Amino acid sequence: MPTHSPARRLDGLGTTIFAEMSALALATGSINLGQGFPDSDGPIEVADAAVAAIRAGINQYPPGPGIPDLRLAVTEHQQRFYGLRLDPDTEVVVTTGATEAIAAALLGLVDPGDEVIALEPFYDSYTAGIAMAGGVRVPVTLRAPDFRLDVDRLRAAVTARTRLVLLNSPHNPTGTVLSEEELTAVAELAVQRDLIVVTDEVYEHMTYGVPHRPLATFPGMAERTLTVSSAGKTFSFTGWKVGWACGPARLVRAVLTAKQFLTFVSGAPFQPAVAVGLRLPDTYFTGLADSLRGKRDRLVEGLRTVGLEVFVPQGTYFVSADVRSLGYDDGVTFCRDLPQRAGVVAIPHQVFYDDIEAGRPLVRFAFCKRDDVLDEAIDRLQRLL
Ligand code: PMP
Ligand code: GLN
Repeated sequence: MPTHSPARRLDGLGTTIFAEMSALALATGSINLGQGFPDSDGPIEVADAAVAAIRAGINQYPPGPGIPDLRLAVTEHQQRFYGLRLDPDTEVVVTTGATEAIAAALLGLVDPGDEVIALEPFYDSYTAGIAMAGGVRVPVTLRAPDFRLDVDRLRAAVTARTRLVLLNSPHNPTGTVLSEEELTAVAELAVQRDLIVVTDEVYEHMTYGVPHRPLATFPGMAERTLTVSSAGKTFSFTGWKVGWACGPARLVRAVLTAKQFLTFVSGAPFQPAVAVGLRLPDTYFTGLADSLRGKRDRLVEGLRTVGLEVFVPQGTYFVSADVRSLGYDDGVTFCRDLPQRAGVVAIPHQVFYDDIEAGRPLVRFAFCKRDDVLDEAIDRLQRLL
C-alpha cells in the first residue's frame, strides 16, 4: 500500500474544530452552539436579489476582482460608516469569504521565514494560512478575564523579521473590541516599524455599547492596512462565501494575484445580492446589533444560572466561559462530555492557542440562534447541575 503523507506545510492542521464539533452535534442530536452560523436567514431582499440574479442568467464567471457594482457598494459602505474613501477599481477585491481574503493576503504578502504577529487565541484559519505561506506565527495573548491587548507585549513581539500584524477586532473567540487606545498603539507601532496590518473586521456590525473603529481610520494606517470583511457575518448568509478585502492598491493587488489561482473568481449571482445588502438603510445594521445584544444577554444570563463564570463579550456573536466552576479543568474534556451530558455543543478555546495553559479552562458558545433555541440550550445545560 502506498503511504503518501501530506506536505509538511500541513503538519498539525488536521480537521478544523468547527467541522469536528458540528459533526458531533449532528451525530448526537445536540444543539449546536459551537460553529458560528445563524439559524435564521438574512434579509429577504438580499435573498431575492440572489434568486433574481440566477434567473437573469448571472451564472458565468464574473470578473476576478468582483463585479464592479459590488466593489462600488463596498466603497460606499466604508465611506458611509467610517468616512474611508476607496477607489472601487483598484482598492477592493471580492473574495470567497473572509477566509480566502486572509489566505490570499498571507500568500500574497508573506515570504517564507517572515514573522506574522497575531492575537492569541487565533481564529483557526490564521494559523493555517500563516503555515501555508511559510510564515512564522508570533502570538500576543489576550488573557482572561478581560482579554485586553497588552501593548507592551505587542511592541516586544516586533523584530527585524516582522512582516505583518494580523489583527482581529471584534475578536473571535473572546468578543474583545479593541479600544481607541489599543488601536492607536497598534497604529503607532505599525507606522514606526513600517509594518503591514491585515485587519479582520468580519464582526464590524456586531458590537454592544462600544464603537467599532476600523484600524484604517487611524493616522498613517490607510496606506498600510488591508481590511477584511464578509457578507456571511453581516447579512447572515455564511454559506454564500462572499467576502472582500480593501485597502491600498498594492496590497489589494497582492491578494488578487494569489486569489486568481486559489478560486479565480467568486460566486457570480451572490455578488449583486451582497451589493443590495451593503446598501440597506442604517436601521438594518443597528437592528442586527440590537437583536444580537438581546441574545447575548439571554445566553450570558442563562450560562450564569448554570454556574459558569461568563466573560461578557463587547462584540461578535460568541460568549466565553470558564468551566472550572463546574468541576472541569480542561475545556476540551468539557466540550467532549457536553453532548452526552447535556445535548449541547460548544468549542474549546484551547485549540486556538500556542500557550495552551492560557486557554485550557475556557470554552466558547455561539448566540446567533433563535431565542427559543437558546432557551432550550440553557434548559439542557441545567442537567449539568
Ligand atoms: N474571520 C473570523 C474572525 C471569523 O470568525 C470567520 C468565520 N466566519 C471568518 C474570518 C471567515 O469568514 P467567511 O465565512 O466569510 O470565510
Ligand atoms: N467563523 C465561524 C466560527 O468561528 C465558523 C467558520 C468555520 O466553520 N470555519 O465559528
